[in-house]
Amino acid sequence: MKIYHSIAEMRQFIKTQQGKTLGFVPTMGALHKGHIALVERAKTENDLALCSIFVNPIQFNKTEDLLKYPRTEEADAALLRTVDCDVLFMPSADAFYPKKVEMRMDFGHLETLMEGAFRPGHFSGVGIVLSKFFNILQPKRAYFGQKDLQQCAVVQKLVEELSYDLELVICPTQREGSGLAMSSRNKRLTPNQLQEASRLYKALKQLAEAFLKGRNLDTEKAIVIADLQRNTVFNVEYIEFVDRISLVPASPTHTPTQTAICLAASIGGVRLIDNIIVAEA
Ligand code: AMP
Repeated sequence: MKIYHSIAEMRQFIKTQQGKTLGFVPTMGALHKGHIALVERAKTENDLALCSIFVNPIQFNKTEDLLKYPRTEEADAALLRTVDCDVLFMPSADAFYPKKVEMRMDFGHLETLMEGAFRPGHFSGVGIVLSKFFNILQPKRAYFGQKDLQQCAVVQKLVEELSYDLELVICPTQREGSGLAMSSRNKRLTPNQLQEASRLYKALKQLAEAFLKGRNLDTEKAIVIADLQRNTVFNVEYIEFVDRISLVPASPTHTPTQTAICLAASIGGVRLIDNIIVAEA
């Protein structure tokens, strides 16, 4: 596996690979099976799979979250080698952003909902980092996890509105045996918190079942939130029934296939997100 740290080296390599298709998997490291599933898919669908590891400072709206983000670069590189990833791009923040980034991106209605509302400026940082990566790497396909459903909608908008010539591939969420969505942030949880955190998936399933049975969703949501927040185990930021593509609140005519249930909650100061499509619950 080739490893590059600077934009110049990376561009140079890309120039030598003209005519080959590149599948790009952007990550922030602390890799787990969720990331690896994306790399494996990129391998099968392209001539080359390239994974980036970059903890993007401009997408963190809380400095503490950035400072505490797990960094396990050697183990990450070793894991990528086990699936024959071809290239790892791992720039430092100074190499990637030699100057303070002054521009901003605005993703319209997506800024006002869920992650957009709770993490102001987050999607601007995501949009800028991905635009830079797409320009440097010129991938044929880029791979993202459904776990970050709203991020997928943001990337879709970025690709459409800026006419990036690439295909977005959305891959299913990989879960622990307990149902907990795999996440780099899980590395910050104690064994007890890890066990508690699996209740988030159960909450999503419970709400999907309520949807399918035609129950009153406001009442069901209130019950689920009260249950999660009992003994202040979780702080629930939101749980929403939304359109799986546009992410706007689901209407009464939404079918189980069209509807996603998204949530964000923190446990012990670690913020977790998850979602399911009702029909797939
Ligand atoms: P991150 O390193 O958290 O920025 O994630 C990098 C990519 O991996 C994003 O496209 C995520 O949606 C995806 N990803 C993270 N966790 C999972 C998971 N459990 N299953 C599938 N994809 C995931």
